[in-house]
Order: sequence, then C-alpha cells, then structure tokens
Amino acid sequence: MTTRPRFTGEYWNAELETKPWAEVERWQAGRIAAMLPALRRRSSLYARLHAGLADAPALGSLAGLAALPFTLKDDLRAAQERASAEQPFGDNQAVPRADIVQAIASSGTTGAPLVYALTARDVDTLADAIANVWFTAGIRRGDIVAHLVGLPMVAGGLPYADGFRRVGATLCWLGGFPTERIVRDMRRLRVSALLATTSFALYLADRWDDIGRDTGLPSSLSKVLGGGEPGLGQPELRGRIERGLRLTHLRETMGLGDVLPSMWGECEAQDGMHFNAQRSVAVELVDPDGGALVPWADGARGELVYTAFARDATPVVRYRSRDHAQVVGVRCACGRTSPRIRVIGRTDDMLIYKGMNVFPAAIRDRVLQRFGDRVEPILRIVKDHKDQVRFDAAIPLEVESRQHAAEAAALAGEIEAELRSQLQVRVAVTVLPPGTLPRGTYKNALVAVRGAMPGATP
Ligand SMILES: [Zn+2]
Repeated sequence: MTTRPRFTGEYWNAELETKPWAEVERWQAGRIAAMLPALRRRSSLYARLHAGLADAPALGSLAGLAALPFTLKDDLRAAQERASAEQPFGDNQAVPRADIVQAIASSGTTGAPLVYALTARDVDTLADAIANVWFTAGIRRGDIVAHLVGLPMVAGGLPYADGFRRVGATLCWLGGFPTERIVRDMRRLRVSALLATTSFALYLADRWDDIGRDTGLPSSLSKVLGGGEPGLGQPELRGRIERGLRLTHLRETMGLGDVLPSMWGECEAQDGMHFNAQRSVAVELVDPDGGALVPWADGARGELVYTAFARDATPVVRYRSRDHAQVVGVRCACGRTSPRIRVIGRTDDMLIYKGMNVFPAAIRDRVLQRFGDRVEPILRIVKDHKDQVRFDAAIPLEVESRQHAAEAAALAGEIEAELRSQLQVRVAVTVLPPGTLPRGTYKNALVAVRGAMPGATP
C-alpha cells in the first residue's frame, strides 16, 4: 500500500499457480469427472442430489458442471440431521466411521453450526492448501507465527495451525490467552507474524503500544494475516492496523469450513485475494439469482461456488457459498494466474430496504471510507428480530464517535445524508461513546438483534 510491492517470484506450487487459468480449470474438470461415480456410491446425499444424471459425465471444462445441481447449506443441514451411530456426520459422510480422524465445525454465525469430518488424507489435503494460502500471504520457514484464533475445533483453529507447520513456520498458538499474555509472549518469543480475525487484529492494534511498553521488550512483528471474517479489504481498517502494529505487510485471507478452511490469500500486491486451493478445489462464479456462470473478468461480480474434488469424508459438489465477490483482477504482477477477488457481502446478511438489496458491509464500508477519521471501525445495524430482512423505515445503525459529544450530534445527520445519496438507503444513526459496542476476540457481528445483545441498545 504505502510501499511499492516487491515480488519474490516464489510459489508454494509453482506449476499450478502459474499455469494459464483455463488449463487449471480443464485439469480440475477431469479430476471432478473421475471422482463423481464413486462419490455417488459413497455419499447418500449425492446419490439423491444426482439421481438420474449421467453416470460418468464428460467434463471438458468447468462449464460442464452446469449440468449438475447446486448443493445448498440446507442440503448439508438435512444430511446432518440423518446422523446415525455409524454415520455421526449424517448421510454425506462418505467414508466408514473408523477412517475419520478429526471433526471440524463451522463457526455458526449464521444458524446452528455444522460439523465436518476429515480422514487422514483430508487432513493432508487441507494442510497443503492452507499452507499454499499462507505462503502466498508471505509466511515462510523461519517465521514465528502467533495463531490467535482461540477455538481449536473451528475451521480457523487446528486446520490453520496445520497449515503454518506445513509451511515450516514456528507455530505459537497463543489464541485464547488474555491479551496481556498474548502481547507479552509474542515479544518474548520474537513472533514475526500473526494470524487473527480482522476484529482482533484491530483490537490488538489499539492496545499494542500500551501493553507492549510494560514488557520492556521490542516487537519483532512484521507480518499480519487477517482471516475468518472480511474487513481487511477496507483501506481505513488496514491503515488502522498498520499504524497500530507499525508494519506494512498486511494480507487478507479467506476460506469456508464447509469446503476448505482457507482458499484465498493476498500476494505481495496486497490488492485482492488469489485463489490458492486449485490442487483440491474448483471455484465458479455464478449469478446469484439465475445461477448462470459468470466469466472471470475484471470487475465481474457473483456468488462463489465450490467443488472439493479431493475431500473424502464430507465432500461437496457445486456448493453455494453465499459469499458474493467482486473480481479485482485476472492478471497479477506476482505471476499467479488465479483470479483475485474481494468479498462484498454474504447472502445471509443481505437486507432489503424498500425492495432494494443492500449488504450491511456496503453500509459499513461507506461509513468508514467517508468518516473513518471520526468514528470507531466497529459499528452495527440493529434488527427487531432475528429473521428480519426487510426494512420499510430507516435502518437503525449504531456508530461510536471518536469526537466530543457536541460534534457527535452533527455526525449522525452527516452519515444519514451520505448513505442516502451514495447507497439510496435511509438509516437512523445513534452515536455512542467509543468502546460502547461489544468487541469479540473471534468475530464481530455487523448486524445484531435488539434486546438480544450486550451493549447499548435497549
Ligand atoms: Zn498476485
């Protein structure tokens, strides 16, 4: 960002990362075609979903996947409800129970958490793909990495840790300790890199100097990886973390527990995330309404759909991620051929204001872009009840002002006017003192339900 990127020309998997993308997709199509017949025998879910389809489809390219139905989160949910003694993971459990060596859970931020199974080969597949993301994001053998996700069972827990060890970095799993201990141990152990959610990286950035001073030790930290929630695409958030932690190496990463916990990572350009899981997962961009394939092209928008063609225990084919992305670029100075994206929101988060779709993230991004010097980067939209999607009156929005109370009063009106003119959305802003809204160490919800949350709203 502030410094000119220096491209290293180093790759985790040079062949797949630099092969023309159309060739990568052709190779993946072949792997998927070879996998499908056995998958339908092993998984009752796919026997049902693919009933009546050709036994061994000829897949010349990923476009051929359009003949297969999508898999929805509700399909996985229903499959998990069919759990039995032999199939504790439900009827998409495609291997015998004795072959399963690990369970991982989705975070459950949108409904009841789902749980996935891994065989020893799956663990290996995940570690390689995640290592590829960490390598793209600049982690190397010799780095000492503070892993700050505190929950081992979530996708960002043990699988991320395995990825760091696979790269050859030194894993320091400090997530879960009190912040003082994290900062102290990071300095004592000469930690050079950290991985945290965007919220926790911000939280740490705000306290870094104060707590660090007490340790009497200098910081060795020079690299930050954000994972587990979006936000690092936001220049204001990036700037805040860079200034607080005094570094410029800041890389966004992203994955999905339902498919593979980390699949996308930013390279030296720090301008959108490359797809790094090409060895085991195929990705499509589709129109979220009609489901038609959207070609990878600069500026294209769509929903990410994944096929995990090397996942044995709980595989997914054409899985609708509900993550909406915008393509930042299809060529990159780093030499990688995979598209680069930023996530613009999730289907689950989408609100409807007077018949028009609006992502809470778009509201947050606009507020931080325009008023980032006057408000805290934590803000939230308030719903009346959990299932509320439609707003026919102004959408309640809570922000924290970094200014004196007198100036804060004017701020509400300015934010409301900005969002009305830029997003055609009316919001009703409540300005709160800094530190009023709850900060989590894992993920901060951008949308909360009135009365069901700690914090300010009655
Ligand atoms: Zn790149």
